Amino acid sequence: MNKIFNITSLIRENVKNIQPYSSARDEYVSDGSEMIFLDANENPFENGMNRYPDPYQRSLKSLLAEQKGVSETNMLLGNGSDEVLDLIFRAFCEPNQDNIITLPPTYGMYKVLVGINAVENREVLLTVDFEPNVSEILKAVDENSKLLFICSPNNPTGNAFSREKVQELLENFQGLVVIDEAYIDFSEQKSWLSQLEKYPNLIVTQTLSKAYGMAGIRLGICYASEEIIAVLNKIKPPYNVNQLTQQQALKRVLNQDAVEKEVKQILLERGALIEALKGVGFVQEIYPTDANFVLVKVDNADQRYQELLEKGVVVRNRSTQPLCENTLRFTVGTPDENKKLIAILKQLG
Ligand SMILES: *Cc1c(COP(=O)(O)O)cnc(C)c1O
Repeated sequence: MNKIFNITSLIRENVKNIQPYSSARDEYVSDGSEMIFLDANENPFENGMNRYPDPYQRSLKSLLAEQKGVSETNMLLGNGSDEVLDLIFRAFCEPNQDNIITLPPTYGMYKVLVGINAVENREVLLTVDFEPNVSEILKAVDENSKLLFICSPNNPTGNAFSREKVQELLENFQGLVVIDEAYIDFSEQKSWLSQLEKYPNLIVTQTLSKAYGMAGIRLGICYASEEIIAVLNKIKPPYNVNQLTQQQALKRVLNQDAVEKEVKQILLERGALIEALKGVGFVQEIYPTDANFVLVKVDNADQRYQELLEKGVVVRNRSTQPLCENTLRFTVGTPDENKKLIAILKQLG
C-alpha cells in the first residue's frame, strides 16, 4: 500500500471500547490434566455433548493452519461465511454513516447484510466481460467507504477476476478488501491467502459449504491480519461454532484426498456439461467458469426454467441480476445427475 495502513481508524467507535464476554472456557484453559469442571453450569453427566465447545476451535484451526500455511492467529471461524461476513460489517461499519462497495452481479448476501447493518451499498457494475471496473470503483469511494467486496470466482457469473485488477484495488482502496473465495477450490487461479502479509487491508473468506461438501454443518473461515482477527474475536458470540460442526469439519478436513477426488470429478463433469450445452439450440452463450456451476444465456430463461422444473430439474434463474438477462445457473451435479440433465437439455432443444 502506498500509505501507512491504520486498522484502528477503520474500527467502529463502540467496538473499540467493548469488553468481550469472558466465558468459563476463556478463564480456565485446560492443559489436559484431569480436572473436575464445575465452572460453566453444565450438566455433568457425560453424553458426548454436555460440555461447551472450544470457543476458539483450536484443533480445527491448527489443522487448517497446517494445510493452508496460515497461522492460527490469522484465522477466525464462524457459523458459515454468512456469520463471518456479518461480523466484518459489525466491526467496521458505523450504521447510518459508512458505506461499502459491491460489484453486481454478485453474491446476494452482501446486500442483505447492508440492510441489516444499516450501511450504504455503493454498487459498481462489473464490465460486460464480468471484470471489476477499477476506475469507477475508485471514483465511488469516499472517506466513509469501509469495505470492498470482491467475490472471485464470482457468483453467479462463475469467473475469477483478473489478478492485476484485484491487485490494483488492494493497492488503492483505503478500506478493507474482502475477497470471497467460496469457489476457490474449483479455480485455476490460486488463492489470495499467500498475499495476507503483503496487504494489511486484505481479508480472505472461504467456506466448507462448496468444495468440501459440508454446507449442512455451517463453517466459514476468515483469514486476515492478527489485528483484524483480534477485533472480530472480540465481538463474536463466544460459542459460535458448535461441537458437532467442529467434529465433522475436523474429519472432513483431515480427509483431504476425498475432497480432492470429488473436486476433480466435479471439474470433469463441468467440462462434459459445457460440451453438451454447446449443442443445445436454445443456449446462446456459455460464460467461462472457475466454479462448480455454469452461467448460461438462453432464449427465454423463464420458459426454460419452467420446462426444466417440469422434467424434475431445479436450476437457478438469475435473470433479475444486472447484466444477467435470460440467464440460468447450473450447479454441476453427480455424473448420474449430469447425464440425466444433458439428456433432458437435448430433448428440450
Ligand atoms: C455459497 C457461497 C458462500 C457460502 O456461504 P456459507 O455461509 O459459508 O455457506 C459464500 N460466498 C459465496 C459467494 C457463495 O456463493
